[in-house]
Amino acid sequence: MTTDELRETLLRSPKNGLQLLNDQQRTEMESYCKDYRAFMDACKTEREATAWAVREAQKHGYKPFTPGMAAKPGDKIYYDNRGKSIALAVIGTKPLSEGANICAAHVDSPRMDLKPNPLYEDSEIAYFKTHYYGGIKKYQWPTVPLALHGVVCRKDGTTVTITIGEDPQDPVLMVSDLLIHLAADQMQKPLAKGIEGEQLNVILGTQPVEGEGSDLVKLNIMRLLNEKYGIVEADFQSAELVLVPAGPCREVGLDRSLLSAYGHDDRVCAYAELHALFAIENPEKTAVCILADKEEIGSVGVSGMQSHYFEHFMGTLCAAQGVSLEDCFAQSFCLSADVSNAFDPNFPEVSDKRNNASVNYGVSICKYTGSRGKGGCSDASAEAMSHIRKTLDGAGVIWQMATLGKVDQGGGGTVAAFMANRNIVTVDAGVPVLSMHAPLELVSKLDCYETMLACKAIYLA
Ligand code: MN
Ligand code: MN
Repeated sequence: MTTDELRETLLRSPKNGLQLLNDQQRTEMESYCKDYRAFMDACKTEREATAWAVREAQKHGYKPFTPGMAAKPGDKIYYDNRGKSIALAVIGTKPLSEGANICAAHVDSPRMDLKPNPLYEDSEIAYFKTHYYGGIKKYQWPTVPLALHGVVCRKDGTTVTITIGEDPQDPVLMVSDLLIHLAADQMQKPLAKGIEGEQLNVILGTQPVEGEGSDLVKLNIMRLLNEKYGIVEADFQSAELVLVPAGPCREVGLDRSLLSAYGHDDRVCAYAELHALFAIENPEKTAVCILADKEEIGSVGVSGMQSHYFEHFMGTLCAAQGVSLEDCFAQSFCLSADVSNAFDPNFPEVSDKRNNASVNYGVSICKYTGSRGKGGCSDASAEAMSHIRKTLDGAGVIWQMATLGKVDQGGGGTVAAFMANRNIVTVDAGVPVLSMHAPLELVSKLDCYETMLACKAIYLA
């Protein structure tokens, strides 16, 4: 053999995915990403993503879950978990005793939540007090246009949905930062201390109501909210209102090859899963799609991936077929569809470049996450990795391996460990992201598209 032949036969030769696509694939990729952008513009919270998924599921013939329901081949079922997470299934021609093919992503993203008593006035400026949700660099959030999303549940049981700041005619909200001229002390602080959590106070307005007394600006803000939404100050105590970066998902780069948006992590994988699921009819194994909440704070709570709502859903489907849930889980496979860190040439020192995902090299497969010696991760087996290689190569998916940074550099986790703890073979995979958890994150169109193809291949494996 020549050296070239030896190299070809024996060594890996990763290629930039954009050099591998044909014209038809490019057209499909652009069309897919156009739809993805519309989804991102409509869905910035777990509630909005869940509501979107319910609407689309109904359009595609999915029926709502009911306890004790049947589960026949071809049936399409969704379980709306309190409007904050959702599981969907297409029942396979094989019984659930042979397992399900599951894709699990999350639809919550880092942001700023309102505190229970958020509204106050200081120096004739009205503010909301916030508590950040998930891992953020706090210094990134001042001077960014913010939108208010969420629900207020009044004491009488009625609920009002609020979205302010997304319509171009809407006002936006904002956190201020210190002017550089007077920032001598601030600039000496470490980045983690430059903006503190209690400084993430959001400006609401400066116009006082007419009259005498204190807090006239606060009173005016409450008057405006009351006029539009019929709420009073005490209603904030039973509300979930969050502040997220305002504005749409946009193309980035002179070649338009990238997309910037708030919350690609992990709605980029959530959308991929849903899009792939809706394209599937009559799979052999039951295909299950999960959009989970609370991943960014540990997958806890009734809407997180540790919640038994998943057992309730799958257990009911299994019972309908006379199958034990344990037997189903033991034969199932889960793609934990979550984003990875794309190699950033501006910060090469945090990565092992040979083992880091790169933009445009396709969906990234992560054998393990965790931190300090793989702590807390599920660490997929060699057999599971072999299954993934075979499945993705068989479907012509462009993919690559990923690790979360250099050894001992940091770490993180996904829903993978919680699926694996259920005795479900699980592998992490998803879209590589630049600036993860920043107000605006970057992904490549190619990696978005390939992740959708990967989800489809897993459902049909
Ligand atoms: Mn994530
Ligand atoms: Mn995250």
